[in-house]
Amino acid sequence: MHNILSVDLEESFCAHNLESLVPRGKWESQTLRIEANAVKLLDLFDSFKVEATFFVLGWIAAQLPHLVKEIAARGHEIATHGYGHSLITCQTPAEFEADLKLALEVTAPLVPSPIRGYRAPSFTITPKTTWAYPILERNGIAYDSSVFPIRGHPDYGFPGAALSPFPVSPRLTEFPLSCVTVGNLKIPASGGAYFRLLPWFVSRLLFKRCLKQGRCVVFYLHPWEIDAGQPRYPLPFLRRLRQYCNIGTTEQKVRRMLGEFSFTSFRKALSL
Ligand SMILES: [Zn+2]
Repeated sequence: MHNILSVDLEESFCAHNLESLVPRGKWESQTLRIEANAVKLLDLFDSFKVEATFFVLGWIAAQLPHLVKEIAARGHEIATHGYGHSLITCQTPAEFEADLKLALEVTAPLVPSPIRGYRAPSFTITPKTTWAYPILERNGIAYDSSVFPIRGHPDYGFPGAALSPFPVSPRLTEFPLSCVTVGNLKIPASGGAYFRLLPWFVSRLLFKRCLKQGRCVVFYLHPWEIDAGQPRYPLPFLRRLRQYCNIGTTEQKVRRMLGEFSFTSFRKALSL
């Protein structure tokens, strides 16, 4: 079974964690660090001959169109992460659709094939925002990967959602972020801060358990998660832990993961 390799293409200051310190109005005055980190990931993926899906934030595509073109030219799928990284849980349906359309308008002309995939900022397709699905569908999106079937996270979670990919409609498939079940517990086995916090041998066990339970791993990473030299913003303890823990060892862990597990993009997995 192929696992899914995905990258959310955004700067660290675009993350919801940093919204109070670097609000949207200050993005333009920040130093961009994403290009070197993204190219490092591209080189790493090349060395394992693996294709990934990049969920590109429209704002990044507007700043660095050549980077999006390079990612596509190096054989990866370009999907969208919306434009301004607003959580869907904080948007009206009209605001959500305007943000999605802007992201597609900026990103689609940079790539040779139509954009078919979407991931919500901070995984905010929740029981309260399923109204977003028909909007995604009418804008040409064929799959979504925004549902985290867990409970207890302050920003996201869809505790009742299926753990395996499921059809939302005949034209739209949901690919939840992967979790494993241990008794009644659902434990994320999918990347990001979870992957950075845990030692590799634990992630490896979780990935193997996920496969044994009949589901592929849906892995996600941000370029800033391998950027040891990035500036550290003064965050409260839990947010600081989520944002910066083990940044220096993540690249090595990803390398080990790619050496041991087989990955591909969403478009290949779905034969799009
Ligand atoms: Zn994001």
